[in-house]
Amino acid sequence: MPRAEVLEIAEPEVIVVGAGLAGLVAAYELVSAGRRVLIVEQENRNNLGAQAYWSLGGLFFVDSPEQRLMGVKDSHELALQDWLGSAQFDRAREDHWPRRWADAYVRFAAGEKRAYLRRLGLRVLPLVGWAERGDGSPSGHGNSVPRFHLTWGTGPEVVRVFADPLLARERQGLVSFAFRHRVDELIVEHGAAVGIRGVVLEPSEAKRGVASSREAVDRFELRAPGIVAATGGIGHNFELIRRNWPVQRLGAAPAYMIAGVPAYVDGRMLGIAAQAGASVINADRMWHYTEGIHNWDPIWPQHAIRIIPGPSSLWLDASGQRMEAPNYPGFDTLRTLRRILATGYDYSWFILTRSIIEREFALSGSEQNPDITAKHIGQMLASRIGAGAPGPVAAFERHGADFVVRSTLSALVAGMNELARGPQLELAQVERQVLARDNEIENGYGKDAQLMAIANARRYRGERFTRIAKPHRLLDPAHGPLIAVRLNVLTRKTLGGIETNLDSQAMRPDGSPFAGLYAAGEVAGFGGGGVHGYNALEGTFLGGCIFSGRAAGRALARELGG
Ligand SMILES: Cc1cc2nc3c(=O)[nH]c(=O)nc-3n(C[C@H](O)[C@H](O)[C@H](O)COP(=O)(O)OP(=O)(O)OC[C@H]3O[C@@H](n4cnc5c(N)ncnc54)[C@H](O)[C@@H]3O)c2cc1C
Repeated sequence: MPRAEVLEIAEPEVIVVGAGLAGLVAAYELVSAGRRVLIVEQENRNNLGAQAYWSLGGLFFVDSPEQRLMGVKDSHELALQDWLGSAQFDRAREDHWPRRWADAYVRFAAGEKRAYLRRLGLRVLPLVGWAERGDGSPSGHGNSVPRFHLTWGTGPEVVRVFADPLLARERQGLVSFAFRHRVDELIVEHGAAVGIRGVVLEPSEAKRGVASSREAVDRFELRAPGIVAATGGIGHNFELIRRNWPVQRLGAAPAYMIAGVPAYVDGRMLGIAAQAGASVINADRMWHYTEGIHNWDPIWPQHAIRIIPGPSSLWLDASGQRMEAPNYPGFDTLRTLRRILATGYDYSWFILTRSIIEREFALSGSEQNPDITAKHIGQMLASRIGAGAPGPVAAFERHGADFVVRSTLSALVAGMNELARGPQLELAQVERQVLARDNEIENGYGKDAQLMAIANARRYRGERFTRIAKPHRLLDPAHGPLIAVRLNVLTRKTLGGIETNLDSQAMRPDGSPFAGLYAAGEVAGFGGGGVHGYNALEGTFLGGCIFSGRAAGRALARELGG
């Protein structure tokens, strides 16, 4: 058995807990300023980059050259309006720092962010996606324009641009990693964080993302003048999710959920930090998706994949009722979640055609987009523009536990009823709604608000040619067979967390800074303890890790002096 890796830095100036994106960015900034850094991580080296590696690499930029190329007119002012309309900050005490972070982050996304990442070698695709199209009101939730920029190389590339320089510094002895070290306690002396205590976990050769043993073989204690918590959110901890679930706002927590993140996203550090005296706020704000499907080839326990849908699928709740405006695919995540849960069930249905799935189903995750992850232009063009669904989507259609593919509506509904965890659907009711929708198709205008929204989206050329199927009747056999997908609630992101000031320094409940303790990434609610407020605009999480990790690294480098 391999031994847990031995620490080589005797006296680090900063200990970063967590080798995810936020931790890597903080360490990168510190090491670039000549500081000695130790990165402590409960998983093994295979997991460097943590969640970001699995991500699609979607990045929120404002008024970028890519947007301009696609004819999108965006501005800092419009983006800030969208951000604040989505965040809906309403808490005098807890939203103090989140508001300031929101302002700073939108400025970063409209300014320096792109150049910062380009200098590191990161490139994005020219086609800008339109995520969270919104609730239908200009001052409410959602992106007024497309802003979702896909990294060329997806999540692994986002990780690489920070990990490569760090690994080079590791060889020079400036940075060191303590893998399989799990932090259980922050050491606080005279009001300042001065170190960490925890256990050494038994060695593991588990592949990336696979849940590893929690068997402890030793204890450890490490000290440094600066500690950065970069330990991620609560997405795989269903117990914590249920405990913090905002029942008043979203309805009762789903009885059944599947996990959009690996098992190490356990949220333990939030309790550890609170215990040490840090302020943890906005715990009831979270970001879970309604379009989750069971991964037929799972890597982590209860592994879920999110469909990032185009707008055309017909969306029915568990009882077979069509969801009303603006609960359309890809418009308003949490409103849709509330609408689904209001039925008393925790799942819903898409009904679509082969033509729709071919154009409109994107799957979130680096491994679900092998063409872009491998930076293979030929494969990407063939799979996205050529005939047929992209390979990974076709594999789900064949093997996925949530998919029903049939040539007639009656056979489709019979298949859906075999998968239903709740009421049996009535063919007549489903048929009535499908026919009513199909009767609205002919003119390209009409009174079906979803079809209007599709027509609007198709006016953006980035969507028209690659992302949205030409409107057609669902019952037109030329576009068949029919497909139904059972959609489950997929857990993902934590929008609240450790309260931090603009230097990513943790705050105490009395509003004073916590000496020596910093927090970045998801554990800090991506900055401030909740930069997103109640809702996210998408592609904002990786950027939040980068912005808050950078702030922590730069502030600590300054504080440690010359
Ligand atoms: C499939 C998928 C797709 C996504 N797509 C996008 C996207 O397109 N755009 C976007 O903006 N965001 C996306 N995200 C979200 C984004 O990737 C994450 O929110 C972000 O990477 C979180 O980074 P982090 O560094 O804060 O935390 P993590 O990546 O969770 O890293 C935290 C690390 O800390 C370690 N750790 C935790 N507790 C301890 C402890 N007590 N002791 C020692 N180590 C500990 C963990 O093992 C882990 O390695 C996606 C996420 C997933 C899973």
